[in-house]
Amino acid sequence: MERIIVNLQERSYPITIAPGLLNKSINFFPLKAEEQTLIVTNNTIAAIYLHKIRTVLKNARVLVDSIILPDGEGYKNLHSLNYLFSVLLKKAHGRDTTLIALGGGVIGDITGFAAASYQRGVRLIQVPTTLLSQVDSAVGGKTAVNHPQGKNMIGAFYQPASVVVDISCLKTLPQREFISGLAEVVKYGLAFDRSFFNWLEENIDNLLTLEELSLIQCIRYCCELKAKIIATDERDQSGWRSLLNLGHTFGHAIELELGYGKWLHGEAVSAGLVIACRIAEKIGRLKSSVTERVISLLKRAGLPVSIPSILKPNRLFPHMLRDKKMMARKLQLVLPLSLGKAQVCKSISYDLIISAIEDSQQKFTRGN
Ligand code: NAD
Ligand code: MG
Repeated sequence: MERIIVNLQERSYPITIAPGLLNKSINFFPLKAEEQTLIVTNNTIAAIYLHKIRTVLKNARVLVDSIILPDGEGYKNLHSLNYLFSVLLKKAHGRDTTLIALGGGVIGDITGFAAASYQRGVRLIQVPTTLLSQVDSAVGGKTAVNHPQGKNMIGAFYQPASVVVDISCLKTLPQREFISGLAEVVKYGLAFDRSFFNWLEENIDNLLTLEELSLIQCIRYCCELKAKIIATDERDQSGWRSLLNLGHTFGHAIELELGYGKWLHGEAVSAGLVIACRIAEKIGRLKSSVTERVISLLKRAGLPVSIPSILKPNRLFPHMLRDKKMMARKLQLVLPLSLGKAQVCKSISYDLIISAIEDSQQKFTRGN
């Protein structure tokens, strides 16, 4: 079992990582007998895991209510949030209640925002069940719902009291979702740590077969990195946290232009990482051998490294402008400068970006 502390003085919290945590004792949840809780999950996850966590909590005489939302990003909205508030009020949950998010990033984000705002803030426990949520969204305190006019437009920074990562949940996760999460893992290596990138090159096959020790090491490492970033730049103010967006300006544009849901977030980020490498190469800041290693690792993971030829590079650009600040047709981007080092680079020209996207379009491949 691994335990990491996110250090935020009086708001510090532990991340516990191990197999089978949901079948084990209450120790991993900071809850006592007679305390009120509301588990929030979706229909897919409820069918597999809700009874496990209910049993563990009920055996410890914790009071448990639950809400099962429909599955999907489309339900990460104000309507679901309002439904959640209605249930909390109807079942007379007080200020001392605890919300438990059992699911991936969608459930984590909605539940987190509900916890941030119900009665001006109640306790939150994150139980992430996707690789993406275990290495990224459950840690760090960003919570949100979508608005018809934009993704994650309504939300709050709100840290959980505890994050419980049961890696056994990954066994039931669809493989495409697991692989998508690996794109964020590769991003951590490329942006922050050369030795972790090297480790990924050696262990990618073990991760793909869900080998337990490798999974624990990998998730622990990503959480440690994110915890370090959060501890120094909780609200994305000093620029360090923004390096987590490596590959994302392009990724978001690809997701939007293809139509949400066609490509998973991590798949779009994967192609975005390659475009970021190519731009960095074109401005003379990155060796081509690094791009080649990034492409090779992403391919081995089964991720796309180029974008479909039907996507017109000039149509991606307006989405990027919406995504990031723009001055006189010049864009500010997070770019890799070497393996394990990224930086915000200003004034990247339109022509250069378009030509890097074109280079990434030669051939559409998903991992062969
Ligand atoms: P998701 O929550 O939609 O889960 C993906 C799919 O896997 C869903 O169908 C879900 O029901 C299913 N699933 C989850 N766990 C499972 C399991 N163990 N077994 C079987 N099926 C399972 O997607 P996601 O990739 O986890 O999260 C994406 C969301 O996270 C987006 O809304 C994004 O905006 C948000 N996000 C937030 C942050 C943050 O810092 N708050 C960071 C990154 C992403
Ligand atoms: Mg992401």
